[in-house]
Amino acid sequence: MNTNKTPHIVIIGAGFAGLETARGLANAPVRITLIDRNNHHLFQPLLYQVAIAGLLPSQIAQPVRTIFRKQKNLTFQMGEVTAVDFDEKFIKLNGSVIAFDYLVISAGARTNFFGFDALEKYGLQLKDIDTAVQTRNHLLSMFEQASHEGDAEKRKAMLTFVIVGGGPTGVETAGALSELITHVMRKDFPRLDLKDAQVILLEAGPSLIAAYPDELREATFKLLRNKKVDIRLNTNMQDFNGQRVTLGDGATIETQTLIWTAGAKAAEIIDSLGVEQASMGRVRVTPSLQLPQFPDAFVIGDAAFLVNGNGQPLPMLSTVAIQQGKAAAKNIRRLIEGNEPLPFHYKDPGLLATVGRNAAVARIFGISFSGFIAWVIWVFLHIYRIVGFRNRILVMFNWAWDYFFYDNQVRLITKE
Ligand SMILES: Cc1cc2nc3c(=O)[nH]c(=O)nc-3n(C[C@H](O)[C@H](O)[C@H](O)COP(=O)(O)OP(=O)(O)OC[C@H]3O[C@@H](n4cnc5c(N)ncnc54)[C@H](O)[C@@H]3O)c2cc1C
Repeated sequence: MNTNKTPHIVIIGAGFAGLETARGLANAPVRITLIDRNNHHLFQPLLYQVAIAGLLPSQIAQPVRTIFRKQKNLTFQMGEVTAVDFDEKFIKLNGSVIAFDYLVISAGARTNFFGFDALEKYGLQLKDIDTAVQTRNHLLSMFEQASHEGDAEKRKAMLTFVIVGGGPTGVETAGALSELITHVMRKDFPRLDLKDAQVILLEAGPSLIAAYPDELREATFKLLRNKKVDIRLNTNMQDFNGQRVTLGDGATIETQTLIWTAGAKAAEIIDSLGVEQASMGRVRVTPSLQLPQFPDAFVIGDAAFLVNGNGQPLPMLSTVAIQQGKAAAKNIRRLIEGNEPLPFHYKDPGLLATVGRNAAVARIFGISFSGFIAWVIWVFLHIYRIVGFRNRILVMFNWAWDYFFYDNQVRLITKE
């Protein structure tokens, strides 16, 4: 029970949605406790850049305490929320309880391995800094090992990189990895025959980036094929044992590398809430983003399931999370002032995905285009969206260097 008269807002998760809610309440007469199990906000869309040695983790992450240094009504607590009691209105954190008047659950999503235990054990994923650095270490180690491997078959397997999932992350990773081999590894390993190196992108469906319009799917396919990525559509991955990928038709690919980008589901805490969950474990919320039974609790971002005006569930995208964060902040203000909360309407800002150097696809203001212009827009939009002025400058410098000198600067194998 909160005995202080100032309403106490607890926000679980300092991702895109949580950050925006906290910012939206900056000048409100409330106390905010923002909680995250990490001490930083992470710009997940650029995780693949960490994995392919293009950026340092610190360039796409920012300490939460730095972001909110000037926001006087906010306290940050690092820790994992393990339980929520909606009736008594408290959460459990680090062995203590924190009471709330309003709760915002913006805990995001985790990788969905769809019950493939072996995949979880041997596969690589891109979800946080640890998994991206692990992927970078693994990729670079494969080149080191291949450089002194005498057996041609084993060397080929070391230089075969399989990515599963033809969504934007799979496409971006495949394009960037192929360029790493062509432009950078070729210079680093002059005595290693990189003709054997291959990037294979497996997609179970009939096209890449399925959520995008036809013309962009086709453009992505062509751009990625020009980058020498072996794209295999309608191809199911059946198994991976750390040495070999088995496909649905029984064919095999000898490889030690499988990067899984084919699924996401709501964060662990969501399963313990005891509320109605929809596809991918996401919480079914009202149009105003509240829990139907507990209107003082909001669920937003990747963790929330809400159907759009066109009858489709809103996608797990940062743009949705940001807009929902803003909407949740507004609705909390309205509730405090005794007004009805307003329904959330997603304003689609368009689609954008990069396939590598000079190559991206975009749909902005209803116009689809691809190639260099789309890539320039992608570059500047991502620099603009990274949190922290210093990080923007560093990323811009890194990318300019890589672009002009065909170099990926962070080719470090570190101990995990
Ligand atoms: C590799 C990758 C690439 C992507 N590319 C794009 C892209 O190009 N464009 C795009 O729009 N979107 C992209 N996305 C999706 C986008 O990142 C998500 O939609 C967005 O991050 C969702 O925001 P969120 O605030 O809901 O969750 P998140 O940003 O995931 O934040 C959730 C936060 O909650 C914290 N948390 C979770 N559980 C707990 C707990 N129990 N206790 C304390 N803290 C907890 C986490 O540590 C995390 O900081 C990508 C995602 C990934 C993984």
